[in-house]
Amino acid sequence: MSDPRLIDRMLETVERNIVPLTEQGVKIGNKVFGAAILRKSDLSLVIAGTNNETANPLWHGEIHTLKLLYEMPRAARPKPAECLFLSTHEPCSMCLSAITWAGYDNFTYLFSHEDSRDSFSIPHDLRILKQVFTLDAGGYAKTNEYWSCFDLMNLIAACNEGVQAGFTARVDALKRSYAEMSDIYQANKGDNEIPLK
Ligand SMILES: [Zn+2]
Repeated sequence: MSDPRLIDRMLETVERNIVPLTEQGVKIGNKVFGAAILRKSDLSLVIAGTNNETANPLWHGEIHTLKLLYEMPRAARPKPAECLFLSTHEPCSMCLSAITWAGYDNFTYLFSHEDSRDSFSIPHDLRILKQVFTLDAGGYAKTNEYWSCFDLMNLIAACNEGVQAGFTARVDALKRSYAEMSDIYQANKGDNEIPLK
């Protein structure tokens, strides 16, 4: 998974496909979380999506992307085993289960649960893991019989220094974009009906 071509493509998918959707989503009161599905074979995009909790509190970025996937014609939908699942933020307990039930054997995320709490003021991922599942941060199995998950920052850290600097600069730019989108969500969240804001 530390193949620079794969990391480049995942960053590009966030930059070009997910962020534009999330920019629109936060304007109507949705959170900053997004996802995409890529084909393993050629890393082409199957579908990208973003959080749509103002329509339904279960439409987290990952689940809304899966919903849109199953609205595509069956012939256009690759099998989950043929796909990479990309999440901008480490999936919450609901989305961990959704990715599992949807049959994916992998996912990769850019921002961690701790980032969601500390940089994005969304503490619910860690709070639900603790309150419902009695798990501390990092307490779920990152590799199990269903899937393996990957932290994109760790994959970048495993690259040689030559390519690492370019990736880090792109992540820094993405952090700035997400900080701006998060500010819009946080400034307006009092007006929405999302149960866990
Ligand atoms: Zn979720």
